[in-house]
Amino acid sequence: MIRVGTGYDSHRFAEGRPLILGGITIPHDRGLTGHSDADAVAHALTDAMLGAAAAGDIGRLFPDTDPAHKDADSMQLLAEAHRVVQSMGWTLFQCDVTVIAQAPKLAPHVPAMTMRLAEVLQVLPGQVSVKAKTNEGMGFIGRGEGIAVLAAATLVPLPPRSSPSPSLA
Ligand code: MG
Repeated sequence: MIRVGTGYDSHRFAEGRPLILGGITIPHDRGLTGHSDADAVAHALTDAMLGAAAAGDIGRLFPDTDPAHKDADSMQLLAEAHRVVQSMGWTLFQCDVTVIAQAPKLAPHVPAMTMRLAEVLQVLPGQVSVKAKTNEGMGFIGRGEGIAVLAAATLVPLPPRSSPSPSLA
């Protein structure tokens, strides 16, 4: 038995903010605005996992009206969301993330994002896919106003296999 969930997030660029994606601080002249650290990769993936478990969404689990989540480390929220789905008897099997940004170039940072996500989710790097693309200059992403992230996650029942297939490593 498997369950599949999808997630989407977008954030607006602003001056004077660090650009944090997948837990990695990426050099850029602007960062993303938000109540938390605005890590849209972590947010989209959190929603994908929660969606797969039919466990609501990031806004329900971590309301932005709660001062505790001001400037929150979204990778910690991601880890917490994984604990929530694990408490429901599911665990992450694999996930796939697409980051859509006109700038900066994200491909050089994909390996670091992948490693960090795997570490926080306690899975192998081969169970985490991160892809980056531009929006061909179109729309709000193309104009550099912000970025968007799509994510998909597959959950399998706990307990997980003690060692995932070597082909995933
Ligand atoms: Mg968000």
